[in-house]
Amino acid sequence: MRISVIGCGYLGAVHAAAMASIGHEVVGIDVDERKVAALSAGRAPFFEPGLPEILAEGIASGRLTFTTDMAAASGARVHFVGVGTPQQKDGYAADLTYVNAAIDALLPHLSPGDVVAGKSTVPVGTAASLAPRVEATGATLVWNPEFLREGFAVQDTIDPDRLVVGVAGGEDAAGVLREVYAPAVAGGTPFIVTDLATAELVKVAANAFLATKISFINAMAEIAEVTGADVTQLADAIGHDVRIGRRFLGAGIGFGGGCLPKDIRAFSARAEELGRGESVAFLREVDEINLRRRDRAVQLVVDGLGGQVYEKRITVLGAAFKPHSDDIRDSPALDVAVRLHGLGARVTVTDPEALANAARVHPQLTYVHDRDEALTGADAVVLVTEWDEYRRQLSPSHAATLAAGRVVVDGRNALDPAAWRAAGWTYFGMGRP
Ligand code: NAD
Repeated sequence: MRISVIGCGYLGAVHAAAMASIGHEVVGIDVDERKVAALSAGRAPFFEPGLPEILAEGIASGRLTFTTDMAAASGARVHFVGVGTPQQKDGYAADLTYVNAAIDALLPHLSPGDVVAGKSTVPVGTAASLAPRVEATGATLVWNPEFLREGFAVQDTIDPDRLVVGVAGGEDAAGVLREVYAPAVAGGTPFIVTDLATAELVKVAANAFLATKISFINAMAEIAEVTGADVTQLADAIGHDVRIGRRFLGAGIGFGGGCLPKDIRAFSARAEELGRGESVAFLREVDEINLRRRDRAVQLVVDGLGGQVYEKRITVLGAAFKPHSDDIRDSPALDVAVRLHGLGARVTVTDPEALANAARVHPQLTYVHDRDEALTGADAVVLVTEWDEYRRQLSPSHAATLAAGRVVVDGRNALDPAAWRAAGWTYFGMGRP
């Protein structure tokens, strides 16, 4: 099928390449000339495992192209819209400027029978408000929220755990998407057809649930801290209950990234607009617990260094909001680094993939690519992104030969406290004695 993908960021670039890899003829369209130039040359503009391979394969096959010219959408049967929906500058609500601009630019290139499939995460009600404009061209608007995880985006796009398609009228348009996703559907991926509002809500509800689960265990970590309990043992023990499950119960410095924080805030804002703010009032608390854990990590470093960090050399392991990604949007890792710098510490940040992005946004920090060089002379070490390079491949005795001090703060509860203590370190975890 001929497909256009509008917006080629973390979601759209992967979607375009993945759709080409399953046999479609795809044009990716973005307003960012540098991104389009990189993608056209087969270079992934961000780190995502597996993306370079399917990008190269798609371009070589001739089925995958990228352009800044919206006219290239003409002739495609399905148009996926995956532009950004960031938090507004002056509030919690989602900024729909890019969605509106993308739809407006697309309208002149639509033909009767086309399907416009929204993939961006939007406040409930957005699709219904956009539908009349799309339908005036004879095309149909559906909403097909995206659940990919950065770091596993290629696999999640080609073989998702579920497909959700919200439609306004009959199921015809959903049938077209069933064709687009035929390999996944044939492989048993549940294909769930809903109305537009439900599809929009499925996405934000899923993220609200995941954020709540993380903040729940972080709230338990706060209680553990004043009682001497160990939140990791608590998580293991409650996680054996299949109704609870162990995943997303890792206490630490909390969630970040380009989705969870802004999605729960946008959900709160939308619920307020709908007169149902109280229904998701708990999401404010989820957000606050999440942000408090960053303070806690900073406090542990200060305590570990005897009450002040001024002029102390602190090595921060990690900048990305999570491993397997170079995404630093709302990264708790970088936030901890920035706060320590703000207290007068000499902060050195290392990360396998995210340093270039981090340096662009926070040029005041020192960035060192080589892990061991970054550790050399450190008075304290803080793990904030649980890359294997730090959690598995860094031996505490080796780290001890490089660092000047012996204080380690494990912001992700990813290290083995016994091994670090045995190597002479004073270990601080999150919600652990
Ligand atoms: P992003 O910022 O990486 O990408 C957005 C892209 O849209 C940018 O390349 C930008 O240049 C482009 N764009 C903006 N206006 C445009 C226009 N008028 N025409 C064409 N292109 C335009 O953002 P992202 O992380 O890919 O997220 C996109 C959407 O997908 C958001 O709504 C997000 O919530 C949702 N989402 C993201 C993920 C994820 O893991 N990143 C997962 C699920 C859902």
